[in-house]
Amino acid sequence: MEKLLVFGHKNPDTDSIASSIAMAYLQNKLGENVEPRRLGNISKETEYALNHFKIGAPELLTSVSEDDCVILVDHNEAPQSADNIEKAHIRMVVDHHTMNFKTSEPLYYHAEPVGCTCTIIYKLFEENNVVIPSDVAGLMLSAIISDTLLFKSPTCTDLDINVAEKLSKISNTDINSYGLEMLKAGTDLSSFSEKELLNLDSKLFDLGDKIKTKISQVNTADINDVMSRKAKLEEVISNEISEMDLGLNIFLITDIINSNSQIIALGSSTDLVEKAFSVKLENNTAFLPGVVSRKKQVIPVLTAAIN
Ligand code: MG
Ligand code: MG
Ligand code: MG
Repeated sequence: MEKLLVFGHKNPDTDSIASSIAMAYLQNKLGENVEPRRLGNISKETEYALNHFKIGAPELLTSVSEDDCVILVDHNEAPQSADNIEKAHIRMVVDHHTMNFKTSEPLYYHAEPVGCTCTIIYKLFEENNVVIPSDVAGLMLSAIISDTLLFKSPTCTDLDINVAEKLSKISNTDINSYGLEMLKAGTDLSSFSEKELLNLDSKLFDLGDKIKTKISQVNTADINDVMSRKAKLEEVISNEISEMDLGLNIFLITDIINSNSQIIALGSSTDLVEKAFSVKLENNTAFLPGVVSRKKQVIPVLTAAIN
């Protein structure tokens, strides 16, 4: 029988791993010969979910060849897929992203604009009358929690919530307490030094073409966890200002559960931050309700304030 490999995108998230495992289980129940794979390292969040439901991680895969028959989940674009994907035989796609896909062969293509691939896979289990085992259900639930940030992301649909509730019953998992712990595991920053925290995700800008600005961001489930390291963070932020000749050095600590951010801002142009967000920096910090996006909610506001 033809052997199929199923995998999600590179830099796999929880949905890519859970979808691969769930699809392999479903297809094998339907008489196919399918094995899950992963195109990269397992994140801390995914590791937490796999350990919780006692499921092993799929084997690592880097490239495919003309001899491989595959199922793609949680992606469809070649640059996000295994190397040489254009040579492989793609039998099926299950995805919830924009479609940018071409194939020379006919295939099954399951796509819906929902918050998570595992929501679509749940429907495939139902259509085929296959019972979802408790551990697989728990992993699929983890994927929905991850992709929708516990239903708070604007991408979340009623169907995602509905399916998550069913999966929580099957896996006997409390969505909120488990979900919070899992998301927190994914934002465990304790192994990073302050210098590393400030450079996990940072970008340089010339605000108004004159103020050299660095804006760094970390995601957390608890702002206080990060703020407890404020003194050391400020030390590094100050060092960077003199080393890099910055006018403004902003650290954005984003609470992905409640969709807010705390900023720590230092530099000679911090008045710009106060003006932009209509806040008063106290001890170099301020709370920014509803702000989660550097690209959409921070840069434009600072730029407007300088002009
Ligand atoms: Mg994904
Ligand atoms: Mg996804
Ligand atoms: Mg994601």
